Amino acid sequence: MRLNSATEIIQYCTVHKVPLHALSLELEVASTDKSADEIINYLKQVLHVMNDAIRDSIYDSPESIKGKIIENDGVKIKNRYETHQTVCGGTMAKAIAYALGTMTVNASMGKIVASPTAGSCGVLPAVLMTMKERFDLSEETLIEGLLVANIIGRLVAQNATIAGAEGGCQAEVGTASAMAAAAVVYMLDGDINAVFDASAICFKNLMGLICDPIAGLVESPCAKRNAIGTSNALICAEMTLAGVKSIVAFDEVVSAMYRVGKALPPAFRETSTGGLAVTKTAVQISTKLFKEV
Ligand code: SF4
Repeated sequence: MRLNSATEIIQYCTVHKVPLHALSLELEVASTDKSADEIINYLKQVLHVMNDAIRDSIYDSPESIKGKIIENDGVKIKNRYETHQTVCGGTMAKAIAYALGTMTVNASMGKIVASPTAGSCGVLPAVLMTMKERFDLSEETLIEGLLVANIIGRLVAQNATIAGAEGGCQAEVGTASAMAAAAVVYMLDGDINAVFDASAICFKNLMGLICDPIAGLVESPCAKRNAIGTSNALICAEMTLAGVKSIVAFDEVVSAMYRVGKALPPAFRETSTGGLAVTKTAVQISTKLFKEV
């Protein structure tokens, strides 16, 4: 079965009355040497790792987790929303905290789930765990969300790129954001068109975002871009669950994102030779870090 576009997938699921998460599982079984049960068990482990990174960084041992450049900013957000009225509302604040916390675990060389990459590992866990707590979602529902996120990531990897080095941050955090938005819409019973529209809008909102990590480390601006990717996913899910549609369809948006990525000069594709990476502050940070090694 070759389904290489959202258009084909929507048509297949509609005609054959196959739920999107079931198709994702079928495609994974067909493209790996694993059974459906093995894949589900793997996804249960994925959820555990995501949950552990958030628990450690936000609740259990926030002081011990930090990167070479970034602090554990997630716990600052958590401390504030526990004691103040938030600007964005509790759900958004919590999701931002979880994204920043997970990115700090990554920066401290802790265990995370590359979803789809290490540089964008904060978005999907933050969104899934925040939705789990807000709506008391079951493990089964979260696994369905992961499977739907997987089908988005699979399509982008097949037809464009998920790598910052190839397509800029729009491809990396953009894909994570699109995967997370799709999962939310699906888990909250949005229809298949709304799932792909949420993902498409996510990409549109981040289109053109360059990759310019300070000192070549996946820390800054990466962690805060994961917070933006997380917020973007929740906003896009909110919009499409309410019936807002993407004017440009998912497949066209992904093609546009890929064209933009290929047009980016190398300085903006993870070489740390452009953007924020060459600011005076970034150069000072890099010089200090390289003196220490
Ligand atoms: S700036 Fe580059 S390294 Fe950092 S998250 Fe974005 S794509 Fe990844």
